[in-house]
Amino acid sequence: MIIAETISEVRKQVKEWKQQGLTVGLVPTMGFLHEGHASLVDRAVSMCDRVVASDFVNPTQFGPNEDLATYPRDFEHDCKLLEEHGCSMVFHPAVSEMYAPDAATYVEILNDMPKQLCGKTRPIHFRGVCTVVSKLFNIVTPDRAFFGQKDAQQLSIIRKMVRDMSYDIEVVGCPIVREPDGLAKSSRNTYLSPEERQAALILSGAVALGRQMAEDGEKDAGAIVEAMKEKIGTEPMAVIDYVEAVNLDTLEPVSRMEGSVLVAMAVYIGKTRLIDNFIAESGEAGQAGA
Ligand code: AMP
Repeated sequence: MIIAETISEVRKQVKEWKQQGLTVGLVPTMGFLHEGHASLVDRAVSMCDRVVASDFVNPTQFGPNEDLATYPRDFEHDCKLLEEHGCSMVFHPAVSEMYAPDAATYVEILNDMPKQLCGKTRPIHFRGVCTVVSKLFNIVTPDRAFFGQKDAQQLSIIRKMVRDMSYDIEVVGCPIVREPDGLAKSSRNTYLSPEERQAALILSGAVALGRQMAEDGEKDAGAIVEAMKEKIGTEPMAVIDYVEAVNLDTLEPVSRMEGSVLVAMAVYIGKTRLIDNFIAESGEAGQAGA
């Protein structure tokens, strides 16, 4: 596996691959990789001739009081995991390689999508995400890019950016990978003490409850959200940031479970903010109850 630290190395290698007629997949990550990231690489390897993973803790998507300085890192372990899963190249740039000191250009969606859900408490987050992903798209010029449903708002926003900016890139969404007991895998799970790790199961528990209600034909989005909040409220260590039901494509709040509905949450367990979600598609289950 090639380890590239500069934009020019990546461009040179991708150019060579393209001259050979090979397709290229991109898996953007912030490192400290786990099986969730690995599932994206596996999917990319199955759909593309060559796979590039980026491993970059992007400062522009962190707010001033967030965990940029303490975000976990283990590049050696990341390389091992990526190589084992068939990644062809890892792009691991320094911050100065990605952002010149006088960099002043951002990519920002100006509708409400980045203001919903996580955007309420993380106002500059999605501007940073769109900017870095846009730069990675320009550097790697992939045929396909792979993102996890774990960050559902991010995935909807990237899809919108790709449409609006006419990127010739297929965005592939991949399902959430969970621990055996249900907790969604996350680099931030490492922050949790053993007691908090146990308490964090309330997120996947609430997801399971909400999903079951939707599958059982509950059409009132508010009833599902309230039941999930009530369940989370039974865990003394949990503090809800939000639980909301929104349209999957526009991220606008919905009152009915119709079409593709994203039910997403952010919950603090101690100081650690965790997210989880599920998508309900109104189909047979909903029609059967109607
Ligand atoms: P991150 O390193 O947290 O920025 O995540 C990089 C990519 O991996 C994003 O597209 C995430 O949605 C995806 N990802 C992170 N955790 C998971 C998971 N548990 N299951 C599936 N994808 C994930």
